[in-house]
Amino acid sequence: MLSSSLEKFITEKALNLAAYKAEHVSAPVSLHANENPYPPSPELLNELRESLEMLELNRYPDPDGHKLKARLSERLDTAPENLVLGNGSDELIQLLMQVFCNPGDRIAFPDPTFSMYSIIARGLGVEPYPLELNDQWDFEAPENFELWKKERVKIVFFSYPNNPTGNCFSADEIQKVLDNFDGIIVLDEAYYDFARKSFIEKLKEYPNLILLRSLSKIGLAGFRVGYGIADPCIISHINKMRLPYNLNSVSQFMAERLLARFSTVEDQVNLLLKERERLNTQLMNTEGITPYPSDSNFILFKTAGDGTTLHQRLLSDGVLIRNLIGHPRLKDCLRVTVGTPEQNDQFISFLTKKVSE
Ligand SMILES: *Cc1c(COP(=O)(O)O)cnc(C)c1O
Repeated sequence: MLSSSLEKFITEKALNLAAYKAEHVSAPVSLHANENPYPPSPELLNELRESLEMLELNRYPDPDGHKLKARLSERLDTAPENLVLGNGSDELIQLLMQVFCNPGDRIAFPDPTFSMYSIIARGLGVEPYPLELNDQWDFEAPENFELWKKERVKIVFFSYPNNPTGNCFSADEIQKVLDNFDGIIVLDEAYYDFARKSFIEKLKEYPNLILLRSLSKIGLAGFRVGYGIADPCIISHINKMRLPYNLNSVSQFMAERLLARFSTVEDQVNLLLKERERLNTQLMNTEGITPYPSDSNFILFKTAGDGTTLHQRLLSDGVLIRNLIGHPRLKDCLRVTVGTPEQNDQFISFLTKKVSE
């Protein structure tokens, strides 16, 4: 059989799928993926080295992640029964669609947002139902939710703060969804540590609310750890769908230890928040650049000239940021992750040079 004839076996939904564009090129200054620019502390790395024997790596990991869940429950003041662990929160997004959607159902989300919602949906035969954001990148709840019902919307995802626009949507508008939508509401709080705003207090009152968090933006992107907080009924159904050993032993260990030493992360976040303000001011002072307000560890900005050209020129100088031209509302928009003071200086100095060229 010719390998070119293999396509006849591939499902329509797989054939039609466009892959997530994760640039994995190494650039001297990588400010494209919203990671923490600081590597794990020497203390944490030491713990990792010393733990390797204790972890019994010839054995399967703890399928229920007891230790990590215990640490999280303590920090979040919630019961372990309210928690599910994921191989990154991406995996949990997929599991939620598997639990709540049949092929042909829809998932709603403000648009533009995190592209994985619609990529994962399409892979499962679930249709995206985008809700256009207003000119301030804010979400406006519909007058009534009949249309959502008619369109078979089963889940609405709010990236809070929103990636890639950077802002948190008006809490009042999300509240209208909580009060009126007869379906599942997901608050994806991947950037919670930078926004320090959350819907966690609403979980008791709204059992159809699910929160997602991640350790990827605060230092452990390479370990792939995310978690969900929800009603125990929802958690138990996710657990049936979840593969039993989805989170490996080393990641469970590192996540627990990162949380045990969280003051290091808090110091880094405080520094990054100061850097975000500095970067924002510098972007505002750069001619031809308009930054949008951010509650996250990145800033979206509009360029007066061609965005792709600027993106390429920065890359040729070793500075990689994210180009978002794939979306009609983000023409000539670029997104930069807040880095260390040195990285931000480099980015700004190249940017000012390139914009005026
Ligand atoms: C980065 C990101 C995620 C994915 O996080 P992982 O835990 O690394 O899978 C989820 N949601 C949003 C909005 C993100 O930006």
